[in-house]
Amino acid sequence: MNPRLLFWVPAALRLFLVLFGTGLLWFFWGSIIGLLAGLLVMVAMVVIQLHYLYQLSGWLDNPDSTKLPDGWGAWTDIFSRLYRLRRDDEKNRAELSEWLARFRQAMSLLPDGVVIMDDVLFLEWCNPAAERHLGLSLERDKGMRVTNLIRSPAFIDYIILGRYEQPLTLALRERKLIVHIIPFENRRQILVTHDATESERIEMMRRDFIANASHELRTPLTVINGFLEIAYAQPNLDAQTRISHLKLMIEQGQRMQNLVEDMLSLTRLESIDYPLRPERVNIHNLLDQIQQEAKALSAGRHTISLAIDGPDINGSPEELQSAFSNLVSNAVRYTPENGNIELAWQQTTSGVQFVVRDNGIGIRPEHISRLTERFYRVDKSRSRETQGTGLGLAIVKHVLLRHNALLAIQSKPDQGSTFMVKFPHGAVCDAQEVI
Ligand code: ADP
Repeated sequence: MNPRLLFWVPAALRLFLVLFGTGLLWFFWGSIIGLLAGLLVMVAMVVIQLHYLYQLSGWLDNPDSTKLPDGWGAWTDIFSRLYRLRRDDEKNRAELSEWLARFRQAMSLLPDGVVIMDDVLFLEWCNPAAERHLGLSLERDKGMRVTNLIRSPAFIDYIILGRYEQPLTLALRERKLIVHIIPFENRRQILVTHDATESERIEMMRRDFIANASHELRTPLTVINGFLEIAYAQPNLDAQTRISHLKLMIEQGQRMQNLVEDMLSLTRLESIDYPLRPERVNIHNLLDQIQQEAKALSAGRHTISLAIDGPDINGSPEELQSAFSNLVSNAVRYTPENGNIELAWQQTTSGVQFVVRDNGIGIRPEHISRLTERFYRVDKSRSRETQGTGLGLAIVKHVLLRHNALLAIQSKPDQGSTFMVKFPHGAVCDAQEVI
């Protein structure tokens, strides 16, 4: 039914009842009593209305849906409608604040910075990533002009020129930031910042790697091409010279092959699509084989000993073979004739370790922290003379990273070096598995 009718019909009925009652009293007890009684009822009704008005006014000071009075007559309907309105409002508010909290949490977890500025570039809001990237503090800087807070000429030019279709690359606080401004509703603007420091570093590493690899390959290629040109221009070279040229070409070809193989190993080790599949590594077999290879490489020029006193471990036999033999071949290559090389597999308090100790040329302390960088060599010519690629220790580092192992290096120039590969307890094979 129409709500207006619902309001007027009971009110009219009540009024009619009062008039009817007044008429009856008038009829039976006279006009004075009738009118007095009618007036009294009317006054009572006005008092009731005032009472509910008073209650409504009190409720409006603290409009809580659970504290609404019940009401009488038309007030019942008014209060129940107010109750519904209030309850819907409270529900909407709860939903809104829950949504806002979720939004805030999402924004605070966002790796990219978001700053909201008003039409005159005053800071309205920013997330924690923007605080980190731009050195802002929402609490301290709210309401301040962003161009006064980010004092970079490139950024100020970007804002003045207003060419926001293109992002701006900004070097700020030792970071490389990609900054983008997006205008939105009524001349407000959102500033989005993306930290590109890491990707820039990786890109630089990639560029360096390609430059280094090309450089490394160019030298042997130039040598081989030179000899081929000689062979082509002088077909009647004497046999001895030809053999010596061929020998040098084979050496350079071998060098290129080693380089390509090492580069492929590194790429494979770095690839995330190539997960480690650990299995039991038979340390006796592995180290025996490595010792034999070292002896072959040394060709009797060194004394190479092996002592095994520790359990097997879980890992990739191929990768560990590659890492260990890199360390051992370095010891052979950087130890002069008649030197001693000791290989040991030991149990320690923190796990197990593989130790390669030589009394070779040693390494000066300033080089030690850089040895695992790709193509880093202390002495370039010595490394090349011994067929080194400069990638051996980079491969070792990657293999160890994949096995949660650490590389420790102790060395003294002209006295020798000790390379220690430390595996945690977790890598050691469970005794119960040994059957
Ligand atoms: P390379 O192929 O040049 O040997 P590595 O990455 O294996 O490359 O080693 C990097 C550098 O570390 C070597 O060029 C060498 O100068 C130094 N180095 C590595 N092992 C030893 C060692 N046992 N004794 C002295 N120097 C070493």
